[in-house]
Amino acid sequence: MAGSRMKLELSKVVQGRCRLGQLKEMGRMGQHCLDIPGCLLYTHLGTVPHLTQDTLHTLSSLPTVTQVTLSNIAEHQDVLEEFKGGFKKFAGLHDTVLYCSLHDSAAQSPTGHTTNKTVSVWGSGGRIELTVAKFMALQRTVQPDWYQTMADGETWQTGISRKRVRKSVDRSLAHLDECLLVHQKSQELDGVSVFGVVEGGDILEERLRSARETAKRPVAGFCLDGFQNGAMDQALRSQLITAVTKELPEDKPRLLQGVGRPDEVLACVEAGVDLFEGFFPFQVTERGCALCFLFDITPDPESAAADEEQHTAGETQPNGDLNCDDQTHMTRFEMDLKDKRYQDDFRPLVEGCGCYCCRNHQRAYVHHLLVTNELLAGVLLMIHNTSHYNSFFRAVREALANDKMDLLRRRVLGTVKEESG
Ligand SMILES: [Zn+2]
Repeated sequence: MAGSRMKLELSKVVQGRCRLGQLKEMGRMGQHCLDIPGCLLYTHLGTVPHLTQDTLHTLSSLPTVTQVTLSNIAEHQDVLEEFKGGFKKFAGLHDTVLYCSLHDSAAQSPTGHTTNKTVSVWGSGGRIELTVAKFMALQRTVQPDWYQTMADGETWQTGISRKRVRKSVDRSLAHLDECLLVHQKSQELDGVSVFGVVEGGDILEERLRSARETAKRPVAGFCLDGFQNGAMDQALRSQLITAVTKELPEDKPRLLQGVGRPDEVLACVEAGVDLFEGFFPFQVTERGCALCFLFDITPDPESAAADEEQHTAGETQPNGDLNCDDQTHMTRFEMDLKDKRYQDDFRPLVEGCGCYCCRNHQRAYVHHLLVTNELLAGVLLMIHNTSHYNSFFRAVREALANDKMDLLRRRVLGTVKEESG
């Protein structure tokens, strides 16, 4: 079996699919665990953008799984091979589980470069074509604790034909089998967990076939790929994910790639997803924004209503378009601190937030840093956004534990006016 001792313990399953629990005995030594639903720590080459390890560790309850992508790593293969100690040691990462994925969900890769035998990733120096042999050589060099297998995920654009989708499922299964064959013969990958990739575009029968076939293989978990398309209707996506997760074994985790917006996270948790990539706070930071959506569901109806009133009374930049699909654009869950209205706003980014930024600085200061292009702006925003996003996931778990998902959804979507508790 190509997989570690990683175990998934479910403490609660709501409506037969929405899962609360813990991934246990992760990492090669089996010393790490991760609560689900949860998110991973997004990095570029092992570093959370804008933050040093010291700054990062001022944040409480960081995700225990660090994500790196082959698109960042592939061009450094020679150096890593020479180094020999694996990527964790190379990047000075201690005490974390390393997950290696193929693409960076925060970066849009060009399409049209996959073949029956290869997929391409884009590094800073351009395109790198990977065969299964090269892909697996990279994994042996990186020595992650988990990795996703090579897959053809180019089915997320609109208007993709059924034939192309079928081909992507076939290719991804063939890549999976080849990866597993190499994996099982590689001593360096002993105890490393393999995540199989479920493809199938927006075609239900292909999604089901991909899920069923992948589940037959000795994988430790599943990546649900190709759902990042902004053009896919949210209801259709939920339907497809619900159908897919029904086909997957209950005792293995499901990681959804390319989805990070809070409302979408909630819908996908309800469809049976356990894990998300953590790129969303980075995207928000890059556009000079701060996450400010509400997720507090403590049963105090009066303060909840008051918060809400304050929240909607122009405190934040209203976006209003919940169906704004492109994740590179500002969403209604954040405020644009570059906006002039914040130049003399001396409140913290979010009242009550315990992060370093909110404890020490005001909106006006971050606005000033942003308009003068100071590097500290990114640092402070990344601290706040990472902290806010992690706290949101904690709130999702609490809501699940206490049967308050409806309340949480209304709170996040900003429609809670009064609540009986
Ligand atoms: Zn904060």
